[in-house]
Amino acid sequence: MTKEKCDVLVVGAGTAGTYLSWLIAKEGYSVITIEKDERENVGKRLDVIHFETDRIEKAGIPPFKVGEPDCIEIRDTSLVGTPDLTTEIKIRALQTIVRLTPFLNRMYKVLETDGVKLEFSCHFKKLLYQEGRIIGISAEKDGIERDYFARVVIDASGKIAALRTALPESYGVENFNLGPHDVMYVLLQYIKWTDPQSSHPANDTGYNWWLLWFGPSYHKDDAILGVGSPGSYEYARLAREDFLNRADLPSYEIIKEEQGMTPYRRPPYSLVGDGFLCIGDAGAITYPFSGHGVTATWMLCMIAADVIGRELKYDGYITRERLWDINARYFRDQGAKFASLYMQLSGVLNFKEKEWNYFLKKGLIYQTGEDEDIPEPNKEYEEEMSLEELLKFLGKLIWGILKGKLTVGHVSRLISVNGLAGKIKKHYENFPENVDDFDQWVETSKAMWKKKKVAIKHLSNVSIEIK
Ligand SMILES: Cc1cc2nc3c(=O)[nH]c(=O)nc-3n(C[C@H](O)[C@H](O)[C@H](O)COP(=O)(O)OP(=O)(O)OC[C@H]3O[C@@H](n4cnc5c(N)ncnc54)[C@H](O)[C@@H]3O)c2cc1C
Repeated sequence: MTKEKCDVLVVGAGTAGTYLSWLIAKEGYSVITIEKDERENVGKRLDVIHFETDRIEKAGIPPFKVGEPDCIEIRDTSLVGTPDLTTEIKIRALQTIVRLTPFLNRMYKVLETDGVKLEFSCHFKKLLYQEGRIIGISAEKDGIERDYFARVVIDASGKIAALRTALPESYGVENFNLGPHDVMYVLLQYIKWTDPQSSHPANDTGYNWWLLWFGPSYHKDDAILGVGSPGSYEYARLAREDFLNRADLPSYEIIKEEQGMTPYRRPPYSLVGDGFLCIGDAGAITYPFSGHGVTATWMLCMIAADVIGRELKYDGYITRERLWDINARYFRDQGAKFASLYMQLSGVLNFKEKEWNYFLKKGLIYQTGEDEDIPEPNKEYEEEMSLEELLKFLGKLIWGILKGKLTVGHVSRLISVNGLAGKIKKHYENFPENVDDFDQWVETSKAMWKKKKVAIKHLSNVSIEIK
């Protein structure tokens, strides 16, 4: 058995662990990051992936260059198709289309230059405790056990949350596993249009009604046909089948297929415990509507690096209390916005197909316009409406009801869900600064989440519950 010591030990060198390891090492602390996969294979479960361009800049990631092995394209617009397939609206969406494994390998070099020690093919086995508090981890590499002792241990092991789920109940961080209704099941088909001249959905067209999209792929005549659903892969497959039965697409060849799950639920109420933090999919940090997780967690990492960097300057055990600011700063800002959006899902996703048509065509969901006029996307994940905009919005809802395009029941549900979303946002914005007030805050949160209603989407071949 070997033993090593460092300031911070990170388990998982995916996009979350890589980024936070880098930030902390840049502050001059010793960081060891262990990863179970081989260096060249990390991230291979996915190939092409989208990052929000403005968030890449905010995170200070070394810029992407189109044509480099890790960057396919940088786009600023997308199309959204209505469920009746008659209309496509153009929206502003700032996205960088990335190849995941080459990106991670580019970052590993940057990390090593800044002092991170990366250990690949190294599996986390168990947490090490002293007097009930985490002091490190035990791992295995090439059949040899290694103990790593660290002042802070970070779970960045992805959706399996290997460390968080191994925590004892009493540790102060929920140790739930992700169930079928806590994740979005995603199916991807990399396709090539057989006759690229024939009319087909342009790259980066989304059909929200089915949670289905045609994303950019390696070449302009290729696409990635993606579809997601909570509940099961079978639901996702049925949603795709329903779309394909309706869409009358020209022929295409499937080059390869991928599938995976992304967390689709609220994160644990606390992300920190004694000597411990969870980030990324391990902390269920994803954008509520898209399920994208990469840049969502980078915002948390920036806060975490700041707080951990501050605490490492001082001696003594780094307790839950000393890491608490990570919770407070995260949940009062992005965490509050995401909580509100999660709540809103049960109102928006409950609309029927014809209601989605109305919503999209009347600009009730996305702001649209002609090329240069399309407004910037809502980068901060909250909609501040002026009184005039609000009145217009309400006017369109009433008009929709009068014209039989919207049902009263669904509109009143939307309004009540929006009320709940506003309340939960305020509640998260008041995340306790003091650990002593946390239990009471959790009790109120639980009562609020209990009010979140199940949304049901009725497709022609399946009804899908969104809990
Ligand atoms: C099909 C699909 C498409 C997606 N598309 C997008 C997208 O376009 N944009 C976006 O932002 N998000 C997307 N997501 C979500 C995104 O992939 C995740 O949110 C993100 O990768 C999470 O990063 P992470 O570092 O937390 O976890 P991961 O990327 O899962 O990294 C965790 C790492 O920990 C390692 N690990 C696990 N267990 C151990 C262990 N015991 N010991 C050592 N190492 C271990 C794993 O090998 C892995 O490398 C998609 C998800 C899916 C399934």
